[in-house]
Amino acid sequence: MQIFTRIGRVVMAVLVGGLAGAGEARADLKVIATTEDLAAITREIGGDRVEVEALARGFQDPHFVEAKPSFILKLHSADLLVVVGRELEMAWLPPLITQSRNAAIQPGGPGYLDASLTARILDVPTGQITRAMGDVHPLGNPHYWLEPGNGRRIATALRDRLSQLSRGDADYFAGRYADFDRRLAEAEARWGAAMAPYANLRVVTYHRSWPNFADAFGLDVVGYVEPKPGIPPSPAHTLQLMEEMKRLGVKLILVEPYFDLKTPDAIARETGAKVLVMLPSVGGEARVKTYFDLFDYDVNLLVSAIKETGAR
Ligand SMILES: [Zn+2]
Repeated sequence: MQIFTRIGRVVMAVLVGGLAGAGEARADLKVIATTEDLAAITREIGGDRVEVEALARGFQDPHFVEAKPSFILKLHSADLLVVVGRELEMAWLPPLITQSRNAAIQPGGPGYLDASLTARILDVPTGQITRAMGDVHPLGNPHYWLEPGNGRRIATALRDRLSQLSRGDADYFAGRYADFDRRLAEAEARWGAAMAPYANLRVVTYHRSWPNFADAFGLDVVGYVEPKPGIPPSPAHTLQLMEEMKRLGVKLILVEPYFDLKTPDAIARETGAKVLVMLPSVGGEARVKTYFDLFDYDVNLLVSAIKETGAR
């Protein structure tokens, strides 16, 4: 059924292509993005020439997504798969790609785009990489979309790849990219101005999700509730963290929406800090629908909390 639909789409594309200019019906590119952030940026560039769906929801931990059989069907009929990469989806995506029986979207294929390849990646380990450390970030920090500059780099890669897959739409994608780039530059100025008074603000975060965000907006992340990325809090580490927070006067603990608040709340009570549930992804809350909404939400939340706590 899926295959017939696909063939039908190709036939339609050929027929419509033959009638260029007469009517604008066209076979849209089917894009599957692993996360809602990548889906949101794809919509910015692809406009009405693409049909985009995300696999993970923005309120889920992207490292550990439940792989549903429906994902395989979506991947089977995709023209393009966009992944975060750096092993973010390591625990759930590779078998789905294999089972999709879609040659185009296999790693290295024309329909496989690893957005990390052209992004600015932080925390890249030097020396030998070992999983004995329990680290879920072995190839550098995979939460890089939380820096607007990387949103632009992801958009650039999407513009180029979508244009390769649908050459007739290259001008359209270029125009959408230029518009996105202009709106992003405006938004960056707005977000930067909102955060500028709080440069070098010390914070603690639950998971190591925020190095790119911190770098973009001048936060100083001085510790983590997790002893290591992907390793749950331990009493010894929590005690050490609280000592450090008291010593440095840290007033904010940023927590991703998918972690248990028990330990962060206990740390907050002990240190007089405030727990802030920050959104690492589009879709973390229903009203956060675009890449711009995501930073608007987080920057507003941070600025309100800084004013409320007198954090510095
Ligand atoms: Zn992570």
